Amino acid sequence: MTKIDEVLAYFDEILPNASCELEYTSDYSFLFAVMLSAQATDKGVNKVTKILFEKYKSLNEIALANEAELIKIVMPVGLGKNKGHNIIETAKVLLEKYNGKVPNDFGALVNLPGVGIKTANVVRCELFKEPSVPVDTHVARISKRLGFAKKDDDVLTIEKKLEKLIEPNRQIKAHHQFIHFGRYFCKAKNPDCQNCKIKQHCKEKF
Ligand code: SF4
Repeated sequence: MTKIDEVLAYFDEILPNASCELEYTSDYSFLFAVMLSAQATDKGVNKVTKILFEKYKSLNEIALANEAELIKIVMPVGLGKNKGHNIIETAKVLLEKYNGKVPNDFGALVNLPGVGIKTANVVRCELFKEPSVPVDTHVARISKRLGFAKKDDDVLTIEKKLEKLIEPNRQIKAHHQFIHFGRYFCKAKNPDCQNCKIKQHCKEKF
């Protein structure tokens, strides 16, 4: 068994149902949740989006929102001014150019205000089930600790390495499992090394 097969088999054992923890009810509500999640926790984002989508019940209402009022709602997740502004501007573009739908096209997504490569990849992975392994802080840390990436690799390099290692039909699940393993087991501080069954592959010494 290769290292990646062993790691994924272990993840299947401890995290069989790992999935996206951002709550959403529509394509645009997922896109906005991902935009809000930059440097924030999914829990914090879920609290904010609950209030946000109770107040603004459609994409149209978001596009017409009073910017200061919307910013006040998203402020708790940090970078509220930028995020709030970008959400309103993106809502306008979705309505004007894409018939109110989130486009399944990488180039179109990264051209939306405030949407970067990672957000675009997460959206394509979750909404359109496009195989990929978007790299967040957890995926990056686990990849480095397990030696799938080098210490100084950037997120795009790590993403490419993981996508080369993991079969396309396994990538979406692996993406969620890496995140959950990082969030609940192999935390940045005080990882649960004592109970870790893949420690033979780990480069960290705790
Ligand atoms: S041994 Fe510890 S640091 Fe290494 S992968 Fe396991 S939990 Fe993470």
